[in-house]
Parts: sequence; structure tokens; C-alpha cells
Amino acid sequence: MRFGINTLDDFDVKDKTVLCRIDINQPVNRVTGTLKDTTRIEACIPTLKELSEKGAKLVLLAHQGSDIEYKNFYTTEPHAKVLSKFLGKEVKFIDDVCGPAAREAIKALNAGEILLLDNVRFVSEEQTLFETKLLLSHEEQAKTLLVRKLAPLGDLYVCDAFAAAHRDQPSLCGFEELLPSAMGRLFEEEFCVISGLMEKPKRPSVFVLGGAKINDAFLMMSAVLGGGAADKVLTGGLVGEVILWADGKDIGEPARAFIKKEGYDNLVDTAKELLAKYRNKIVTPSDFAAVKDGKRVEYELGKIPAGVLILDIGEATAKKYQEAIREAKTVFVNGPMGVFEETATELGTRLVWDALGDTPAYTVIGGGDSITATKKYGKTGDIDYICTGGGALIRFLTGEELPVVKALRHGSKLKEKVK
Ligand code: ADP
Ligand code: MG
Repeated sequence: MRFGINTLDDFDVKDKTVLCRIDINQPVNRVTGTLKDTTRIEACIPTLKELSEKGAKLVLLAHQGSDIEYKNFYTTEPHAKVLSKFLGKEVKFIDDVCGPAAREAIKALNAGEILLLDNVRFVSEEQTLFETKLLLSHEEQAKTLLVRKLAPLGDLYVCDAFAAAHRDQPSLCGFEELLPSAMGRLFEEEFCVISGLMEKPKRPSVFVLGGAKINDAFLMMSAVLGGGAADKVLTGGLVGEVILWADGKDIGEPARAFIKKEGYDNLVDTAKELLAKYRNKIVTPSDFAAVKDGKRVEYELGKIPAGVLILDIGEATAKKYQEAIREAKTVFVNGPMGVFEETATELGTRLVWDALGDTPAYTVIGGGDSITATKKYGKTGDIDYICTGGGALIRFLTGEELPVVKALRHGSKLKEKVK
């Protein structure tokens, strides 16, 4: 038991039918239907290996979305092949989720065997609850078709899908009403890492927040400064620009227009409140870079010429951030410092990522583009923890209780199956 949730150590799974929800949602090639990445599939292997070796009859539930979320639902058939490859053991697949064929296949499982069901989002209730206003309580989710049909066949429910822990859906939150539940090893590890970040970070603890999708960054900033988890917040990308704007500094009309166009000018008031409370902990850029005739040009804050759009933090700022990162004991990063995809505007991000690579601090990275930057600069092996669960991680850091955590706590109290 950890965080009020059972772990795999709390169960004897031998000859038990274990319903296990994993997150193996991966980018898919829209033309060929093949998987472009397998990071998440690899990450859940330890849990599956352990359950299978301990003699569970293992039933896997998973979803596959698309890069245009809510559309194009793909089968999980290719995932079964990749799982088999990494496990070195056959993972059977059935093109049914909870109909008679799936139920027969579950009943036919022997100890140690593994079956992957088709995409749970083929079941309509999983979709109608997908981040829409139609929210069902967990008790109500237990009455959905998926849970009603599959729970009677299971003895235990295990959730290893931390990356989906912010989703309030039947495959994630419904089974815990009926079956004794536990979290898998990946869930346990990710939960432990991010709880540690919030509750007892080694100090000094530095949060580096940048990027272009910045609503979450501001929520996180309020939470980690308010809760005391962050000793310092280093800001880049649009986050830094919005804070400087709020502080009455001139970031240039093009940057302000861009922020307005993205709908983030409403964050200026939030930034003012944050500055009023935590000015000494929020660090903002003192110089910036823009592109002129295809080349990088740097300007000190206050000297940005009219009409120039800033796209990166300047070198002096990046060096200051490097120092703070190297002196820290904990560093969390979400969001690049500038438009790192372009050569002229990548320096800020590259320098910060260099420091992440060689700081003695415990380093955690979350966010799709931040992970891309980590790969681009060859730092994947140097970062202590790269969180697979971007959305869940961010919701957790903003101080929200994750629906799946709540459900698992409930399911951890059940000693027996509810009939
Ligand atoms: P993550 O996926 O790591 O959470 P975001 O999605 O929030 O990161 O932001 C990443 C994007 O932000 C990158 O594509 C980058 O080009 C863009 N970006 C960073 N800084 C700026 C800036 N100053 N102006 C415009 N775009 C920026
Ligand atoms: Mg972001």
C-alpha cells in the first residue's frame, strides 16, 4: 500500500483473472496505421511481466486515439505485436472489447497468458465521457456496458495507465467500484516521482516553465509557489513574455499581438497577482533573440526595436538559468525557452537543456515538445525522469486530485469483489 493505494505486492494473483488498464496510446502513421513510437508500450512491460510470471490470467484494456483527438479510432492490434516483442511472449489479441467473443476469450485464458482487447474507445460510453460535460460518477461508470460485461469475469483490477490518470472514464474509474484494485509498477513509479516533487523536493528546487501552450504553466506556477514546492521559477517562452508584460516591461508589439491572438492576454492579470505575491521567486528573461535576414539577433529587454518579434530568450538569460539549474537539487521542466525547432532560435533551449544534462540535481521533464527537445539534444539518458503522462502530470502539479487516483483509493478498500 502506497498513497492509500494497493500495489502489486498486496495481491496474490496466481490463477486470478486480472483486468489491467494500460496506456499504450502512441502516435500513429495515419496512412499506414503503424506506430511511430513505442515508448509507452515499453514502459508498461515490467507490470505485465510481473503479473504474467506470477500466474495471472491477464486481460489488457487500452485505447488508441489519434493526433486529431476525438477522431480516427484505431485498433490496438498492432500494439499486441509490439507488446509480444518486448515481453518475449505472445500477447493474444481479439477484435472485440466486451462482447461475447471477448468474454469467451477471457474465460479461455490459462495462468500466465495475456490477452489484449480491442480499443476501449470503440465502446460508446468511453467516448461520450471523453472530456465532455457529460460526467458520470464512478458509481454510475460501474453501470456502463464495459464494466457490467467485464467485471464479472475479473477477480482484480490493476491500473498502470498513469498517463491517462486525469481521464474520468469507465475503463479507468468504473472497475474500482466492483473489484479489489491496485496500481501497476509504472503508475506507482510515476506517482511517486511527481508526489515527491510536490511534497518533499530536495532544495533548492527549480521549476523551469516555458512553451507556447501556457494555461497549464500558470496553474502550475500558482500551485508550486503557493504550496512551497518551488524555490524558484525560471520563465521562458510565452510564460516569460506574459510575466514581463504584466510587470509593465516592453516585450514589443508583435509579441503582445501574438499572445493576444493565442488568447493568453487574459493571463496578464494572473501574472500580476503572482508577481505581487512571489516576485522574489519568479525569474524573467533579461534579454531576447529574434531573427533578421535568417540570422539570430539579440536584444536586451527595454531595447527591442519596434516591429521585432522575439522568439527565444537571449544568451545572457540562458547562462543565468544554467547557473540556477546547476546549483539546484531538484529541477522540473515543462516547455522550451523559444522556438527551438529553428536553428536561429534554438540557443536558449539548447543551453538550458545542456545544463539539465549535467546538473547533479534530480531532473524531471514533462510535455510533448519538451521531450522532443530532450531527444534532439541527446539528453534522454541524462534526465532522471521523463514522465510519459503529460496531461496527468500537469493536472497533478496544478493541485487537482486525479480521478483515477480517487477511484483506485476506493478500489483499494475493497477486500472482495462486489457482486
Ligand atoms: P510542451 O509540449 O513541452 O508542454 P508547449 O506545447 O507548451 O511545450 O510549447 C512548445 C512550443 O512552444 C514549441 O513548438 C516552440 O516552438 C513554441 N515556443 C516557445 N517559445 C516561443 C515563443 N517565444 N514564441 C512562440 N512560440 C514559442
Ligand atoms: Mg506546455
